[in-house]
Formats: sequence, structure tokens, C-alpha cells
Amino acid sequence: METCPLVSAPCPEEAVRALFGASARIESRRPVSGGCINRARRLRLQDGTLLFLKDQAGARATSPPFMFAREAEGLVALGRAAGGPRVPRPLAIGADERQPFLLMEWITPGSAGVGCYEEFGRALAAMHRETAPAFGFEHDNYIGATLQPNGWERDFTTFFGERRLGYQITLAESRGRASRAMVRGVHRIIERLDELLAPVVTRPALLHGDLWSGNHMIDDQGRVAIIDPAVYFGAPEADLAMSEMFGRLPRQFYDAYQEVAPSAPGYEERREIYNLYHALNHLNLFGGGYAGAVTAAVQRYG
Ligand code: ADP
Repeated sequence: METCPLVSAPCPEEAVRALFGASARIESRRPVSGGCINRARRLRLQDGTLLFLKDQAGARATSPPFMFAREAEGLVALGRAAGGPRVPRPLAIGADERQPFLLMEWITPGSAGVGCYEEFGRALAAMHRETAPAFGFEHDNYIGATLQPNGWERDFTTFFGERRLGYQITLAESRGRASRAMVRGVHRIIERLDELLAPVVTRPALLHGDLWSGNHMIDDQGRVAIIDPAVYFGAPEADLAMSEMFGRLPRQFYDAYQEVAPSAPGYEERREIYNLYHALNHLNLFGGGYAGAVTAAVQRYG
């Protein structure tokens, strides 16, 4: 696919014309399943070009403002990482916030090729080598439908304490989803972050940010592509931890990653601190079923 700048258009039809010429038109739209929030479809243009479209029509939840613009910026940041995994290129976003959409490169689904998870492990390690002068990101974005506050912070424990755990526990409290003991426990963990994480997290690394198993797919070359990110510069272990939260990736992925970028000793002891962020986010998004995961982390680290 040719390189095109991200265009802003009132509707997908106009976006397609701006990207592919005045005569370009959408010939068919086919539903794509698997998303958690938005309506997803595969578009076919009259010349056979395939595109992926997310929009809000009939979606299960209303997207917060500029969600797709933030997703597009995250995809661009990941796509720039030298030697990183495949990332779909965003092509167009909706100019009208009342009819938001995100149009991107279509990734034809395939089945896992030989060595694809080793390659993914090495590629993720390469992506994690991308760095920034501080922890955070240039704008706030979203994790699922929850705001993910960013900005910049010089040390990771302050960043993770305030803008990840602190933000989520305050949200859970305001929604009546966190007990007093849970709130106190999460704050105790925040106070311990320096001792628990500061010695091992010294360099900001470009993260996918929401790397659970549903956010990778296999393309028609049998290679792994990553989708639907919540990008920021943080602790590389946070991506590894999330990849283990809802079923692990194949062992070859972890072996290859560790060969290139070995974790500091004790990663398993830290893993559930990073995943506490996602447990709190799930508590905020989906409710009480996730309280147990939060309580377990509080009992372990609080
Ligand atoms: P949501 O924002 O609703 O969570 P996702 O970004 O997860 O939606 O996309 C929904 C599904 O569409 C994914 O599970 C994946 O199977 C598929 N998908 C996502 N991006 C692409 C793409 N660029 N090309 C082809 N299929 C895609």
C-alpha cells in the first residue's frame, strides 16, 4: 500500500476519495467480529483494495471524544518503531465528532507461520528499544473506553502511581466499585512503588499498552500484527505482564524476547503490580467480577 498521510474527512466515502482519487468508491462492506467497543467492517473498493473501518453505528458503548484520533496517533507511533511488529497503518479519521470513524489498512487474517512467535518476541523487544526523554506520552489516550492520562513524568513510579493506579482507583471509588479496604490497599501499593519497581524501571520504552491476546492477529504471511493499542512510554515489563493476564502467548514468544532483552531478576514477583492497572480498569469497565483480582494484588503487595 502506498504511503498516505492521515486524512480527516466527514465520512468514509469522502475519505476513500481523498485517499485513492475522485473515482474511488466503496463497493461492499462486510462485518468483522471480535471488537469490544466499536462496529468493525471490511470495505472493498471498486479496484479490489481492502480497508478496515471502525465506527460507532450500533456499537455496544459510546466512544469517548476523539477516541479514534488517539488510536490513530498510537498506531503511527508504534508503526515508526524500527524492527517492531507489524501495525496497521491508519489512513483516515472522521472530521465530525458526531460521526466518528477510523479507516485503516486491512490486515488479511491468516494462520500462524513457523517461527512467527519467535519473530514477534524479537520485534516487540525492538519496539521496546524506542525511547523518550520521560515516561508518558504527548497526549492522553484510552484503554478500552477509559481515559488513560499521560503527559510526561521523569520517574516511572510517580507516573505509574498517579496516572495509572491512582487514576483508576479514584475512578472506581467514584463509581462505587471499590471498597474502603481496596482503596486503602491500592494507595499502600502506590506508596511502595519506589521500593517495588524503581530499581528495575530506568528507561522509558515505547509500549503497546494493552497487549492482551485479543490485541494481536496473524496476517496472511503468517506473521503477528498488533492492533488496538493504548500507547505510552513506560516499563517494558508492563507489556509482557498484560500479555499473560488473559492466557499467555506461546512460550517461544517469551523465550525470544528474553534472549534479546532479558528482564531483571524477579519479573514474576512484579508482574501483578503492572496488571493491577488492568484489573482496576476492568473493574471500572465491567464491574465487580474483577474485584477479586484487585483484592489479590492488595493482599500480595499492599
Ligand atoms: P474495538 O475497538 O471494538 O476493540 P478492535 O480494534 O479490537 O475493535 O477490532 C475488532 C476486530 O477487528 C479485531 O479483533 C480484529 O479481528 C479485527 N481487526 C482489527 N484491526 C484490523 C485490521 N487493520 N485489519 C483487519 N482486521 C482487523
